[in-house]
Amino acid sequence: MADRKCVALIAHDQKKDDLADFAKAHETVLADWRIVATGTTGGRVLDVCPSLDITRLKSGPLGGDQQIGAMIATGEVQLLIFFVDPLTAMPHDVDVKALMRLAIVYDIPMALNRATAEQLIDLNPR
Ligand code: PGA
Repeated sequence: MADRKCVALIAHDQKKDDLADFAKAHETVLADWRIVATGTTGGRVLDVCPSLDITRLKSGPLGGDQQIGAMIATGEVQLLIFFVDPLTAMPHDVDVKALMRLAIVYDIPMALNRATAEQLIDLNPR
């Protein structure tokens, strides 16, 4: 299990349906990954893909984004799929920015929308 690559999944509220749909469409590929997700997002994905190995962290506004950022910094996460809502103000906007910044610092492949995620998921990065 420690050898399996780990993908982090996050979706803002307006994008959760889209991420759940994405996960269902790529369930077979995602089954090869260890998955961490913010709390609500992970629950939504498990609703449609109950067989996936998902570790649910805190909800994003309560620290989940920062937990994933820390896992990127320690080399535990190799891919970030983060469906961002660009039209809604977020109370945890600073956490969102910090997470994106760490993905850049540690050069982790990062998809911020579905079109990019569709490209990355099959590439088997890292
Ligand atoms: P959530 O967190 O999956 O717990 O809703 C996502 C976020 O808004 O950062």
